Amino acid sequence: MEFEKNDDIVVGRVKAITERLSHLQEVGLYFYNQPVTELRGGARVLMNGRDMGMYASYSYLGLIGHPRINKAAKDAIDRYGTGTHGVRMLAGTLDLHRELEETIAEFKGTEAAVTYTSGYVTNLTVVSSLLGRGGYVVSDKLNHASIVDGCLMSGAKFLRFRHNDMKDLESRLKNIPKDATKLVIADAVFSMDGDVIDFPNIVELSKKYGAWLMIDEAHSVGVLGETGRGIEEHFGMEGTIDIKMGTLSKTIPSVGGYIAGKKDLIDFLSHASRAYIFSAALPPAQTAAAKEAFRVILDEPWRIEKLRANTNQFINGLKERGFDTMETSTAIVPVLCGADERAFALTRAAQEHDIFVLPVVSPAVPPGLARLRATVTAAHETDEIQYAMNVIEAAGKEIGII
Ligand SMILES: *Cc1c(COP(=O)(O)O)cnc(C)c1O
Repeated sequence: MEFEKNDDIVVGRVKAITERLSHLQEVGLYFYNQPVTELRGGARVLMNGRDMGMYASYSYLGLIGHPRINKAAKDAIDRYGTGTHGVRMLAGTLDLHRELEETIAEFKGTEAAVTYTSGYVTNLTVVSSLLGRGGYVVSDKLNHASIVDGCLMSGAKFLRFRHNDMKDLESRLKNIPKDATKLVIADAVFSMDGDVIDFPNIVELSKKYGAWLMIDEAHSVGVLGETGRGIEEHFGMEGTIDIKMGTLSKTIPSVGGYIAGKKDLIDFLSHASRAYIFSAALPPAQTAAAKEAFRVILDEPWRIEKLRANTNQFINGLKERGFDTMETSTAIVPVLCGADERAFALTRAAQEHDIFVLPVVSPAVPPGLARLRATVTAAHETDEIQYAMNVIEAAGKEIGII
């Protein structure tokens, strides 16, 4: 006998998405998964055959395509080939991995570091290796999906506090049994809103309640701090995070993720976290590229200054034009639109004028808070940013956002 799949949960889930997609495609409002066909310095790209200004890139310091980094990757391929021999613990470790991890530890001011093959998998495996049933994890409501998934996978009690609300964090911490293991976890810079965590207070509360503190620096490395080292440097509070997580896929133009911290913690993770033990090592080219990128950041400090100047120009310019950029003070700039349709319309108008930005709509953000999520990088020039803002302004007026 055969079973019917018609009312299956899977069928329902697939249908919900495919129907929404075909609707958006029909009305010309599908903007995702467009292929870049050529990198034109990074601030511009050839997108689907059209020359466009890039305002959706995470290459904050404009390092993608950097000659030194490209060369490091090519040299690594010549020397080691394109893959590894498997997982790190067995035959997969190269001297390059060690060197990258030492470079990261030095850059982040910690005793040691360990790398994984993506930032997503880093959060997943690290939270679930550190915590289990009986533990408590307290997480900001707007934390990245990879953190949420790691918390759920760990089996620990998963508590969430209101976004960047330290009173709410304290009220959660207060109610956890005194002797229970606790982990407080937050993004340094929030990936949808571009705002910065209240770092001094999250540090203080973690100390006060004996909790471990883990901070995800995906959007703060290269962005915050005088030399781009991240949130501790930004607040002049070096050495206060127990578990510093970051990605090698944003400011660092490679792929992978890392944890930097005390040597014991790193030894534990490199013998007990499942993504390290059961998934192949980072390929040589990506490892060498990442290592070189950290050096370039230190050798070319002008990039951090330029990113800061571009960020100020972009945020202030949009505000002066009447847009609501929420609480951002970083290179991630939300341009609030309201209803999903308005964000789609603004995106379409911008893209028609060769400005590549993307909308973020519900359920990724709450209904009514749909937005463009625009980013600037050190690769943009002042007049390019001016042009982009003028395009967004004209469209914003037409659609009635400003
Ligand atoms: C992008 C991102 C990640 C995931 O990193 P990948 O290297 O892309 O897997 C994790 N956390 C935050 C906050 C991010 O923005």
